[in-house]
Amino acid sequence: MKILVLNSGSSSLKYQLIDSDTEQVLAKGIAERIGIADGGKIKHEAASKGKVEVEVDMPNHQNALDYIFALLTDPANGAIRSIEEISAVGHRVVHGGEKFADSIRVDEETINEIDKISSLAPLHNPSNLKGIRACMRLMPGVPQVAVFDTAFHATMPNYAYIYALPYKYYTHYGVRRYGFHGTSHRFVTRQAQKMLQEMGFDPDATKIITCHLGNGCSMAAVKGGKVVDTSMGMTPAEGLVMGTRAGDLDPAILIHLSRELGASIDDIDNIINKKSGLLGITGVSSDMRDVENAAAEGNQRADLALSIFCYRIKKYIGAYAAAMGGLDAIIFTGGIGENSRAVRQRVCRDMEFLGIELDEEKNDTLRGKADISKPSGKVKILLVPTNEELMIARETSHVVEAAD
Ligand code: ADP
Repeated sequence: MKILVLNSGSSSLKYQLIDSDTEQVLAKGIAERIGIADGGKIKHEAASKGKVEVEVDMPNHQNALDYIFALLTDPANGAIRSIEEISAVGHRVVHGGEKFADSIRVDEETINEIDKISSLAPLHNPSNLKGIRACMRLMPGVPQVAVFDTAFHATMPNYAYIYALPYKYYTHYGVRRYGFHGTSHRFVTRQAQKMLQEMGFDPDATKIITCHLGNGCSMAAVKGGKVVDTSMGMTPAEGLVMGTRAGDLDPAILIHLSRELGASIDDIDNIINKKSGLLGITGVSSDMRDVENAAAEGNQRADLALSIFCYRIKKYIGAYAAAMGGLDAIIFTGGIGENSRAVRQRVCRDMEFLGIELDEEKNDTLRGKADISKPSGKVKILLVPTNEELMIARETSHVVEAAD
């Protein structure tokens, strides 16, 4: 079946049309500057038809979808003759709270529930809902499926997700660890389980650490295919150093900064989410390629940023090996995880005591799905390219077929 996968942001809409039987991407693109007075643009590409860019103003998500549908069905640039060929739409929804541990077909009640969770993800859930509502209006009767970024982490035990705050903040306000990037962690876990099975491991007993390192970064400890801990928390701000996020901090720093700088809550939000991480340490860029280049040119702070970034990952590997009582494999994914030889090399350095032995040559040369560990290493180090859109398409067809 043909599935439209949508990632609806506040002013953008990313889409992929995927044939769930062949798992081929038939068309994809992004609509940008939705709801912004001018400069609206859709970048669109259908398989074997090349790229097109259309400049259109899109006052809202429904307008954007109208244009996207026109492009998808355009004889010159499209991939289908009619929108009726789309059997279902899979929506990325950032926060599923405690309510949604699985992907679900959306109805009015689900929309209300996702809306209720919006206080936990005020920047994301309302935007995700705009995409869902627009699709429900434009294609009534076509199943809409919500796939949650938090869902894969729903198997965490309570001692991993409860913060040591007064308990009522959990019961009354939902303050707990939820974790994010779950769709990516799930995708690479399933791929890795297959790879490990071929190497003789029992996939239902594997102890895996997944490292999703992109602009946002998170890790998960996955035992027998189920998450037992993850580095992002109630929001994506916790855990690893990221492009512009600080990750783990002494919470009292925020109080101190507020007093010292007279910083407001919004200022603090901006500092920890937008001004910190690689950007904050280097003052150069939030992009790992720029940071690596600057470090290679002798920029000390860029080198320090790399060290802090990798040291944090190393500490989580130690913690998660302890949490799972052992370790069979580390998975690297995301733009940095898949491409940065230097990061993988620094993370795996001096980790032989845990059975982690990186094969430097494989690390330098292999791309795509690959085992880059030395045969003597007890722990497999795997490169697994992520594909969140495909995972959403798989989940969507699964939900639709299960209902039939
Ligand atoms: P997002 O989280 O937005 O999906 P990506 O997964 O594409 O982002 O990751 C973006 C990050 O990957 C950026 O920091 C970028 O510099 C980094 N990256 C991409 N290619 C390379 C590379 N060849 N070497 C080092 N870092 C890379």
